[in-house]
Amino acid sequence: MPVHELAVLGAGVSGLALAVQHTQLGGSVDVYERRRAVRPDGLAFILQENGLAALERLGLRDEAVRGGRELTEYQLFDHRGNELAQEKLDNCVGVRRGDLIDALLSRLPAQALHVGKSFVRFGWSAADRAATAHFTDGTTAEADWFAGSDGIRSAVRSQLFPGHSLSPVRVNDLVSFAPTAALGLEATTRFSKIVHSDGGLAVGYLPCGDEVVWFLQFDTFQYPCENAAAIGLADFCRQTLAGWPPMVQRLIEATDFTRSHLWASTRLTDPLRDYVQGNVILLGDAAHPLPSVTSQGVNSALEDAVALADALADVAPLADYSTSRAEHIARYIAQGMSLQADFLAPVNGDPVIPLARSASKGRL
Ligand SMILES: Cc1cc2nc3c(=O)[nH]c(=O)nc-3n(C[C@H](O)[C@H](O)[C@H](O)COP(=O)(O)OP(=O)(O)OC[C@H]3O[C@@H](n4cnc5c(N)ncnc54)[C@H](O)[C@@H]3O)c2cc1C
Repeated sequence: MPVHELAVLGAGVSGLALAVQHTQLGGSVDVYERRRAVRPDGLAFILQENGLAALERLGLRDEAVRGGRELTEYQLFDHRGNELAQEKLDNCVGVRRGDLIDALLSRLPAQALHVGKSFVRFGWSAADRAATAHFTDGTTAEADWFAGSDGIRSAVRSQLFPGHSLSPVRVNDLVSFAPTAALGLEATTRFSKIVHSDGGLAVGYLPCGDEVVWFLQFDTFQYPCENAAAIGLADFCRQTLAGWPPMVQRLIEATDFTRSHLWASTRLTDPLRDYVQGNVILLGDAAHPLPSVTSQGVNSALEDAVALADALADVAPLADYSTSRAEHIARYIAQGMSLQADFLAPVNGDPVIPLARSASKGRL
């Protein structure tokens, strides 16, 4: 394969996965990350079939899921404790973000990672050809190709598509960890969700190693969360979930809210149709922020990374990367809209598994 020099801007899930695969395919890579260290932080996500297949391509599936837990069942209740649905799950694993980042970092040559490098702009040698990436510390990097993997508020995207703006999403998530032992959930492999019968409020929880990751999903129109400090988040949970089943009360009491993350999702007002401009390519949240209800943010980021590494290694045409990924993403966005509408509406007799599935099987 041709040895391209690739500069990856942003060392999150998509950027690290791309760097690992590009190196494995024989390319040369440098990764530039805004933060002073790439810490294995964050909370957790559900890896689905498409994300697991991408990790398999990277040769990292076993390593990435080792600390997680396979999810074999989905169970849905209403807030009065009535069971509404039970389904089998396949190819779903609850994984801590830190474990995934650690697995990716373990395959990246140490000298390839440059931290404390916050990208601000490109220097162009022609209208569609970036020659250098400029960082806030005054340094620059040269490369044949530049990959923008700098997340939801991407500075690379702003450079390429200055007219594209982000809009808030009505449904937000408050994500937290609680120890499994305090909840009697040491052995469970179940993803459970409890929904308010009138819609607009839900609690989901699933095991992830020796912790349970749980989320309060809420309609910001009906349930505004005004204090994002730990004490405010704890009060918000206690107030909005008063009278909910005992497991919900135990989750709240077992949680250290200083570790919680209030996920105020955003979306691109107009989704991008093309992720490539000359020798600059977007991937992950930089290319396509996805609603959290889809659980596709991390899975599609891993898929992007593998598809882009193939394109850069001339295994597949670069034009196909953009077209085929944008098609997939349009499907996830459509599923996300439908899942959000279901979430906001009163519970009906046809509950769906709240995940956007890669082969368009959202409704199981
Ligand atoms: C610290 C952190 C914790 C997260 N925790 C969770 C979680 O618990 N659950 C969940 O579902 N999702 C979480 N996410 C989001 C999730 O990782 C992404 O939605 C998904 O994996 C897509 O990955 P990505 O590589 O596109 O973006 P991200 O994983 O967000 O990575 C983007 C990277 O780019 C870096 N960056 C940003 N701007 C610049 C710049 N100008 N120059 C250079 N580098 C830049 C960021 O510091 C970050 O490392 C988290 C993201 C971060 C950054």
